[in-house]
Amino acid sequence: MNTSVATVCLSGGLVEKIHACAEAGFDGVEIMDADLVAAPESPEEIRALCDRLGLRIDLFQPFRDAEGVDDATFADTLRRAGAKFDVMERLGADHMLVCSNVATATTGDEDVTAGQLAALADLAAERGIRIAYEALAWGRFVDDYRVAWRIVEKADRPNLGLCLDSFHILSRGHDPSAIEEIPGEQIFFLQLADAPALDMDVLQWSRHHRLFPGEGDFDLTGFLGHVLRAGYRGPLSLEVFNDTFRQTDVVRTAAHARRSLTWLADRTATENGWSGARIREAQHVTGIDFVEVAGADLRDVDEVLGQLGFAFRGRHRSKPVRLWTAGETRIVLDEQDRAERPRLSGIGLTVGDARAASERAAQLGAPAAYRRTYRGEVELRAVSAPDGTGIYWNDRDPEGSWIREFDGGDAHAGFTSRVDHVNLSYAWQEFDEAVLFMSSVVGLGARQAAEVPGPRGLVRSQVMRSSDGVVRFPMNLAPPTAPVPDRHVAIRVDDAVAVARRARERGLRFLPIPDNAYDDLRARFALDAPFLDTLRELGLLYDRDADGEFIHFYTPTIGGLFIEVVERRGAYDGYGAPGAPVRLQAQRQLARTRQRWTEGAA
Ligand code: MG
Ligand code: MG
Repeated sequence: MNTSVATVCLSGGLVEKIHACAEAGFDGVEIMDADLVAAPESPEEIRALCDRLGLRIDLFQPFRDAEGVDDATFADTLRRAGAKFDVMERLGADHMLVCSNVATATTGDEDVTAGQLAALADLAAERGIRIAYEALAWGRFVDDYRVAWRIVEKADRPNLGLCLDSFHILSRGHDPSAIEEIPGEQIFFLQLADAPALDMDVLQWSRHHRLFPGEGDFDLTGFLGHVLRAGYRGPLSLEVFNDTFRQTDVVRTAAHARRSLTWLADRTATENGWSGARIREAQHVTGIDFVEVAGADLRDVDEVLGQLGFAFRGRHRSKPVRLWTAGETRIVLDEQDRAERPRLSGIGLTVGDARAASERAAQLGAPAAYRRTYRGEVELRAVSAPDGTGIYWNDRDPEGSWIREFDGGDAHAGFTSRVDHVNLSYAWQEFDEAVLFMSSVVGLGARQAAEVPGPRGLVRSQVMRSSDGVVRFPMNLAPPTAPVPDRHVAIRVDDAVAVARRARERGLRFLPIPDNAYDDLRARFALDAPFLDTLRELGLLYDRDADGEFIHFYTPTIGGLFIEVVERRGAYDGYGAPGAPVRLQAQRQLARTRQRWTEGAA
């Protein structure tokens, strides 16, 4: 597989972008004309840099508003093109992207358009340059790849072909299957972009909201399948206009971009039963082995876990690490960390083949996470997620393996529970990369996104889960101006009321829920009075839908983390979304009160 990326995807100057593309392992780049225009380096210097880094210049783009124009305007098209061909020769680029006219076209007559493109191609042929014609979704007369292909066929020049761009085709809902009727050698270039399903102006959608493959709602594997079946053998190139990626770290975004192509090629090959471009198969995640909390001082976490009824299983033989369990929920407290605020630092997953999972992660460019282990200790395979969270894979029975490294605690396992979900939150610039990581490296699927109103703006939420729902990560994107929300680990119990009552008796302070929330529950669900009183007395939240019921409560936040206890009745499959705004507001209130106390004390 040959890979390429348009410099317009990345932040920084042209030279920085080119270095980042090479470092990420791309084979080539599309040089955006505007990037070159703004660069202090000459075309010869850019060419030399690409040569030195082993990068091909696959495409020079775009050349706009060329065709469908009156004679005088077309004379100027040829003059402009000649000047750009000069630049391309100095750059060593032999493919030019010509996109369909949006501004100056006066005719949709396909004979006129074909004739002008033929003349442009003839001029290019004198320089050994090939023209790839692209139908923009918002082109004045040509806005459909099938029309562009008709025109290219009519022009009939060996150095005139098509550029197919997944965004322009899929955003318009055009059927991509007709791509297979185009001879592969006439498809000169392929640009790939994903996008979220949005109902908005297509130009704005394209300019600001394109995503890397695997991060949006387009069927890109289906699309790529058509293009490869047509016989296209050129590079898979990314052209992603996105406001976030143009601001994020260029090296990191280039690596992220490259991962998306590896994922897409593998996925397309797998779906079609092709052998090329395959990487190690994604391992089905069968459960959550443990969650790890790190911080310099985790005594507050010990206290909350004890109050909840977790069993203290002991200290690690060789490290300042402790283990608490409640049934199948295992929480590892790691004090090898300097951070003052306790944070969720790792998630252990059980899989069929841990080695295969870590090999796939390496193929997708995920960095291995370092973990100190001594002789006789179980070495868990781990990688770092983009936000630094460690992801560990275990293919053995934990009770028989790593848990034995802890001693000095209770032998019993605590009350019956398991991890229901781990709620992960991200800063605006981390979110799309995290979604791709969870789908490609961890092998989880995405559920439709939702938005939750919080006190500092809308929190975008996307659930990533295993196909059987055993592993669920609701992922939240903070509004740009708000701090990243705290993360939480939710454990599922058989009887949330009983767990809550015992925890209260042990002195656990719950997140205080305002009385208004119970008036609302009474109005919405006609709950019987004793049950409503129990909810109110214990500070529990409640939700119900056609499938079942959900009873849950939250501990106060410790550092950047809190714990949720949930009971699912019937086939309830949600996360208590109606309670989320209440929870966010209650946490904010509590944080403010604490701050006033601290300030008063100081
Ligand atoms: Mg394009
Ligand atoms: Mg939750």
